[in-house]
Amino acid sequence: MGHEYFQKYRDGHTHTHFCKHGSEERAELYIVEAINKGFRQYSFTEHPPLPFELTQKIPNGQWLVDELAMSMNELKDYFKICKELKEKYREKIDILVGLEIDFISGMESFTRDLLDSNELEDGLLSIHFLPGKNGWRCVDYSAEDFHDGLVKYYGSVEKVYDAYYEMVEESIDANLGPNKPSRIGHLTLIHKYQHYLKPKDPDYDKEHITKILSKIKRNGMELDVNLAGLFQPMCKEMYPPIWVIQEAMNLGIPLVYGSDSHKVEHVGRGYDYFINIMNKLVMKPF
Ligand SMILES: [Zn+2]
Ligand SMILES: [Zn+2]
Repeated sequence: MGHEYFQKYRDGHTHTHFCKHGSEERAELYIVEAINKGFRQYSFTEHPPLPFELTQKIPNGQWLVDELAMSMNELKDYFKICKELKEKYREKIDILVGLEIDFISGMESFTRDLLDSNELEDGLLSIHFLPGKNGWRCVDYSAEDFHDGLVKYYGSVEKVYDAYYEMVEESIDANLGPNKPSRIGHLTLIHKYQHYLKPKDPDYDKEHITKILSKIKRNGMELDVNLAGLFQPMCKEMYPPIWVIQEAMNLGIPLVYGSDSHKVEHVGRGYDYFINIMNKLVMKPF
């Protein structure tokens, strides 16, 4: 049981040294670690360059922009290195070369061009930015920034949640061409600071998420079960939480474990926890 819902020993969400907010550990070290931990399939899903138009509108400063994504030149090196590793370790692990694509409303043509000009073997579609105070704000940069740049701007945490989920819906509907990623990244990333700031009603986003799951199903998309949130001190919960995983299973939405590794030591994090949850949910009669 369980195989119909997800593929075992697959990590579908990882980063490399091309990500400036990760560590400088080389991509190859992640692969060696994944092999040691028994993984059989591994997707590199690095953040690609961001549209210039967006970077101009991020008010936190150039240093943050530089941390968020690589340049176009680095993108070529990234693909080259990933493809070399794929060949080198072919016998031991199946490496898929992909990207974690940002959906940014109004800048779809940039994203579509990027997707049209790069062949991806796997990919994620994520929301990391929302319109906010003085431009566009990163939703997961820090609790203080979340409060100052978004909560104060929208007027309440509830309204930030609404804006975030509306953006997720828009990303699912967006026409990003034939190479559009098929998996929604960390659906509930907006919960990252929930132990600091959260809606008064703990079930506030239930209805919106349920609606989004039907949309994911209708569009034949998949869900990233991202363990990073479990290790975030102000979140302590997977993205998405267990009830969402149960609902996705009921709908038959394919689920893919994602460590969202930004360091070698993150490889495989929470995998046992994930398997445990999946086994429990599978045993439960629907
Ligand atoms: Zn992400
Ligand atoms: Zn990521």
